[in-house]
Amino acid sequence: MEYRVGLGHDTHRLVSGRRLLLGGVEIPFDRGLEGHSDADVLLHALTDALLGAAGLGDIGDAFPDTDPRWHGADSRRFVEAAWQRVKNAGWQLVNVDAVVFAEQPRLGPWKERIRQNISDLLNIPIANVNIKAKTGEKVGHIGRGEALAAQVIVLLVRAGDRAAAGGTGSFGAVAPAD
Ligand code: MG
Repeated sequence: MEYRVGLGHDTHRLVSGRRLLLGGVEIPFDRGLEGHSDADVLLHALTDALLGAAGLGDIGDAFPDTDPRWHGADSRRFVEAAWQRVKNAGWQLVNVDAVVFAEQPRLGPWKERIRQNISDLLNIPIANVNIKAKTGEKVGHIGRGEALAAQVIVLLVRAGDRAAAGGTGSFGAVAPAD
């Protein structure tokens, strides 16, 4: 079995007058994330994790923030395009694990919706996606509420190895273990 692991990290400043999107889910809050696109920090980290695992560079290479095409862009497009490139390179996704760093808002009530959204976006079983939330313990840029950050790790397996291992997951995904 041939595997690849990929890591993504991103940070965006919290500012007034912007919507707060995390994992493609709009979360009610008095501030949002600043950025060229919709600034969905979790989806940006996911995009980087996918590209990184397959050795395909990073989100800045694929979707430069100097390109007007990506001004205000829905970050789900970045994930979908990155995932398509990864699949085209002959990889399937085993699982996604993520941490969102936010002092406020508290994300506990939103974690399942975000998880479902990412599962739908990647067309993998929800059991293969996990979302965690951490505060900044009131210190640093996260703890002072100046920014949100996210870290995502993904595991890929070479397409075809799944069948060799007896897996029966849906297209593009590996079935969860029984
Ligand atoms: Mg970003």
